[in-house]
Amino acid sequence: MLTTEPDERNTADGARPACDAGPAVPRRVFLETYGCQMNVADSELVSGILRRAGYERTPDPSNADVLLVNTCAIRENAEERVLGRVSDLLRHKLERPGVQLGLLGCVATHQRERLLDRAPYLDVIVGPDGYRDLPDLLRRDDEPQLELRLDRGETYAGLAPDLAPGPRAFLTVMRGCDKFCTFCIVPFTRGRERSVPAAAVLEQVRAAVDAGKREVVFLGQTVNAYRADDVDFAELLRRTARVDGVERIRFTSPHPSDVSDGLIEVFASEPKVMPYLHLPLQSASNRILEAMRRDYTIEAYLRLLERVRAAVPGIAVSTDVIVGFPGEEERDFAETEAFLREARYDFAYLFKYSAREGTRAARIAETVSEERKRERLEGLIAVQERIGLELNRAYVGREVEILVEGPAKRPPAHAAGKTPTFKTTIFPTDDVRPGSLVRVRVEGATAHTLTGVAVAG
Ligand code: SF4
Repeated sequence: MLTTEPDERNTADGARPACDAGPAVPRRVFLETYGCQMNVADSELVSGILRRAGYERTPDPSNADVLLVNTCAIRENAEERVLGRVSDLLRHKLERPGVQLGLLGCVATHQRERLLDRAPYLDVIVGPDGYRDLPDLLRRDDEPQLELRLDRGETYAGLAPDLAPGPRAFLTVMRGCDKFCTFCIVPFTRGRERSVPAAAVLEQVRAAVDAGKREVVFLGQTVNAYRADDVDFAELLRRTARVDGVERIRFTSPHPSDVSDGLIEVFASEPKVMPYLHLPLQSASNRILEAMRRDYTIEAYLRLLERVRAAVPGIAVSTDVIVGFPGEEERDFAETEAFLREARYDFAYLFKYSAREGTRAARIAETVSEERKRERLEGLIAVQERIGLELNRAYVGREVEILVEGPAKRPPAHAAGKTPTFKTTIFPTDDVRPGSLVRVRVEGATAHTLTGVAVAG
């Protein structure tokens, strides 16, 4: 499960000139993205496909010829929220005949029939495996065009995405998921696992470096299940580390069951593979893990965590936890809370359970009230905030290398970037250089941010 803010809205920007393949006057496309980092990367892929077909991006829906919303089914009430947004955009289509309105992504696959029924004005509805056909579908304007098949062969290998600005390139190396956790809709909306051939991944890595990127982040729903021919995920990381110009390598989101000895060895031996691992827990109760179909026990998870920390001293670890899964009793929750104290994660994405239509868990009656879920969540947040603060305070007095991402949101005249362990760090400077590596002495810490000063390097 990818775990960037699941409801962050990422509005298209970075208009590019049209290329030679398209019409003399490029058509403008407004592309808005909801959901996880994988969806953001899919929008970069769509942007590249459309640019090569003669479209240019616009951040302004009022001057767009095509309006696309790339949707996410992870969040509660996704369908309502998406329909709300497309009905906002509908006025552009009504005001300017010829404008096309389309829906991409997971909700398209998940809610196809209902969408056709409730939003018959949509011109295109395209699922995550149909983007290759988008230019062709947009050329036909007689009736709604659907491309919703899940295609086990589709990896989009060889189709370059339009990378977003900044020093970091997000590259999708595998798609789909075979795990079928009972609470998750992803295997139904994104289909089964398949990996981009290693040669195509490395080509994208080199293109990202040529475009000025210093860090690559490999993406996949279960990214460490990557396998293409004889190349597994550890070997892919090793080959990537040999690409000149790549300074940092990260990935998200791995599954605990697919963390191999080889992957731990790569963490320990490849300095370019950053010492930060996201290791989704979901629950520390074996009863609940089994009900979630998480295919590990808490004992096995703890042994894995200990092995990783022993092999890579100082590695930062984050996690995901869901509270209030159907059947979670007080003792189950107490086990999760105790485990959070014991595991001491650097940060954690903590969620209340809510049913996703179409999943197996949605057929199980809920047993935890909303109020109790909220209390459990608040309890875990308090535990995690305290641990996060303690771990961050341990950085005070140390020097860390920051990859600068850009100006800090606040205060003014500060740069923001990340440590190798993925801690956001800000420091004062009048000369913010995205992509530069700066040594910073840490002088302060909150549960989420380090502050410091640049030191000669
Ligand atoms: S089914 Fe499980 S492993 Fe697969 S994406 Fe969903 S949460 Fe992650």
